[in-house]
Amino acid sequence: MRAEYDVDISIVVPVYNEAENIEAVLDEIVEVMDKFGRSYEVIVVDDGSKDNSFEVLKRYHEREPRVRVVRLTRNFGQHPAVYAGFTYARGKWVTTIDADGQNPPEEIPKLVKTLEEGGYDFVQGWRTQRKDSKFRMFFSRAVNWIIQKITGVHIQDIGCGMAVFNRTAIQRLLQATHHYRYIPAEIAWMGLKIASCPITQRERRKGRSRYRVWSLFWVNFDIIASISTFPVEIMGVVGILFAVLGFAVGMGALLWQVFRGGSNASIVLMSFLSLLVGVQILCLSILCAYLSRTYREVQHRPYFIVEEVVTDGRDN
Ligand code: UDP
Ligand code: MG
Repeated sequence: MRAEYDVDISIVVPVYNEAENIEAVLDEIVEVMDKFGRSYEVIVVDDGSKDNSFEVLKRYHEREPRVRVVRLTRNFGQHPAVYAGFTYARGKWVTTIDADGQNPPEEIPKLVKTLEEGGYDFVQGWRTQRKDSKFRMFFSRAVNWIIQKITGVHIQDIGCGMAVFNRTAIQRLLQATHHYRYIPAEIAWMGLKIASCPITQRERRKGRSRYRVWSLFWVNFDIIASISTFPVEIMGVVGILFAVLGFAVGMGALLWQVFRGGSNASIVLMSFLSLLVGVQILCLSILCAYLSRTYREVQHRPYFIVEEVVTDGRDN
């Protein structure tokens, strides 16, 4: 059996192709945590990296056994990687931090203190001066707003990789078995006691973000769809709007023909017909998105698969 609360703080770091960054980030974490004076462990989850991140991490473990490495069989994604880390975490508190250097480790003590002093279950980092593109910030704002509307819970910055959890939050998260899990959205849905804490954000050390426009779109859709059927419901509203619009245009074209003569009505009707078809296809694709997610769930596949654990031998 894994002994819980072996340490005060477990730091979970998801890694995907970060060979150039990870060593420096771990050095910083170790330095900050040694100064903080609480016992800690670091669990780095190699999410199927294709570069030599795993070799770098194995070497790091030999030098610093408090850094353990969990390697997944393939690239499962950032959130499954973080979840994998949670299953190995022995700390009273667990904090997550990105491996690319964007989250400064000096913020860990601040987050932990906010959680401890405020008696929260979860404290989310809030990047007050983001170093990301305007396009990404727009997506983030929209998703933060929607999640707030759905859950009634205000989390400032859903997409921030830096957060701290107490045992209650971790245990509740680990009870979940569904595939589309996005941690802050789950937490908001669970009704835990949460807060946001302003943190600084730096530029990525090297390499580029894994999230391209298309994947960003789907990740954000998934975050919403994972806890809500809001997109399906909004389809009904869109349908009603277009039905009303279609009726109005039809009536307008008819009246135009009766009172003004001529026949531009067919062109107007055609354009609205194609608009309607477009909306129908959109609605159908949202339904299919839910259906495909349901299909994934009934397959009951694991959320992630661990290939190897590089450890001090105290795991179960
Ligand atoms: N990451 C991961 N698996 C993935 C994609 C990303 O473990 O499939 C890790 C990545 O190595 C980093 C963190 O998740 O530590 C955040 O990723 P990234 O910096 O690409 O995202 P962004 O900062 O742009 O949100
Ligand atoms: Mg990043």
